[in-house]
Amino acid sequence: MGSHGTSESFVKMATIKFTKLFINGEFVDSVSGKVFETRDPRNGEVIANIAEGDKDDVDLAVKAARAAFDRGPWPRMPGYERARIMMKFADLIDQNIEELATLDTLDAGKLFSSLKNFEIPGTAKFLRYYAGAADKIHGEVLKMSRPLQAYTLLEPIGVVGHIIPWNFPSSIFFTKTSPALAAGCTMVVKPAEQTPLSALYYAHLAKLVSMHMTNGVIFTYAPTTRLVTLLLEDHFAGIPDGVLNVITGFGPTAGAAISSHMDIDMVSFTGSTEVGREIMKAAAMSNLKPVALELGGKSPILIFDDADIDMASELALLGFCFNKGEVCTAGSRLYVQEGIYDEFVKKLVAKAKAWTVGDPFDPNVRHGPQVDKVQFEKILSYIEHGKREGATLLTGGKPVGNKGYYIEPTIFTDVKEDMLIVKDEIFGPVVVLMKFKTIEEAIQRANDTKYGLAAGVVTKDLNVANTASRSIRAGTIWINCYSALERDCPFGGYKMSGFGKDLGLEALHKYLQVKSVITPIYNSPWL
Ligand code: NAD
Repeated sequence: MGSHGTSESFVKMATIKFTKLFINGEFVDSVSGKVFETRDPRNGEVIANIAEGDKDDVDLAVKAARAAFDRGPWPRMPGYERARIMMKFADLIDQNIEELATLDTLDAGKLFSSLKNFEIPGTAKFLRYYAGAADKIHGEVLKMSRPLQAYTLLEPIGVVGHIIPWNFPSSIFFTKTSPALAAGCTMVVKPAEQTPLSALYYAHLAKLVSMHMTNGVIFTYAPTTRLVTLLLEDHFAGIPDGVLNVITGFGPTAGAAISSHMDIDMVSFTGSTEVGREIMKAAAMSNLKPVALELGGKSPILIFDDADIDMASELALLGFCFNKGEVCTAGSRLYVQEGIYDEFVKKLVAKAKAWTVGDPFDPNVRHGPQVDKVQFEKILSYIEHGKREGATLLTGGKPVGNKGYYIEPTIFTDVKEDMLIVKDEIFGPVVVLMKFKTIEEAIQRANDTKYGLAAGVVTKDLNVANTASRSIRAGTIWINCYSALERDCPFGGYKMSGFGKDLGLEALHKYLQVKSVITPIYNSPWL
């Protein structure tokens, strides 16, 4: 275990300031008055009591979001104005990075240094990336095959329900809200019940934006004069109330109220495949709202004989241990070609043994506690199942320490494709190691899964890389790298890993819909 030396000062710094629901620009108690506990996975202790939203609270939030969409300025203001406001929101995140990083470390057991240096600054970059697109949203003029004039408008889809998991509470909050804000949508966000703290802090920053913007002017057309007249108007400083609402609470209550709501126009969900299915059912049984689903995975990494073994073993280790394996794209099935298998195994096991598990506030630690007791016990029960099924445990397999939810990096070999530890998403630092002979065999086995989120290919041979990347049925292929996600590049699943991309401009289009406008052209035989 790493040292706990630095953690108390961070904890003191992070007095929990926001614990209530955020509806129509105000922090409010839940209608029922109920609260739930959020806990620190380093020790299982309660951090704070959080308002427990349910159907009545979702109704209030949707009412506010509906009014902000149907009658408010957000969808109607020039995209440039939305961009200015989003940029200011991003600046406020930059000014509060340490506090936000502390909240996600306390709530989710994520590494403080990684949050501070990458994930939280990255959320501000999501906002800026989509802000840059907000004033470049336009349709097309169409050449029709009859004398008709037609054009398309790209319009915001309306009120969006975002349902978020606990493994990347900040990143996923902004991979979803940033493109939706840029598109002109209004929204209700439900963070995971395990990690509500940072979402409420982001709500606070959204409210604060107006205080950091000065009033300016925009020029508009005055229709009464029939001339283009320049009129002075106040432009909107800040995110209008009702545009961004946050409801904390549980999945089967608050989450289900969102997916089945008659007045929500779309649901964007990230989470497990099982819950994704429930969301789709609820959407179908209510108002047939479209859904976008970012779901689970059991991603393969294929390591070929010509790979640099040091690099490949480092990449494989990060593939299943990054964020303590609580990553949808975790490279949790390793296929290694027979020529380098033995040497690769030796290196990977040595690296896994040297990997430090401990307090996530300690900068020397590589991996903190699993998010909660439920997840901790689920991972340990998969490990026991693997042992019972006859797999060989090469290293790990045990909890670390006797307090909190820490688990050692765990490597299994001698596995068969039909074992549970090879088929199921474990969502912890557990990997299965398998040997292959030919590229055809590796591709066939890589595809032998219901999931299709991502895959890795490690080789120096361009032909092997190209063949494998075109043959594996997954939404993202990393060649000689892994987990290289960036805001510019679309991300999402094939097969039962879901549909509808996050990131890139594809994500912006998810929150837009196409309207066609057609008029006849008379007496123009040459058209
Ligand atoms: P989960 O599916 O249990 O919960 C996700 C969210 O859905 C939470 O906010 C939860 O409260 C809510 N929810 C639960 N039941 C619901 C219901 N009946 N109706 C509506 N909402 C409901 O997932 P999790 O345990 O929080 O996260 C882990 C899962 O998320 C893993 O399967 C992982 O692969 C997946 N994930 C996918 C991606 C991706 O981009 N593809 C990213 C991160 C996590």
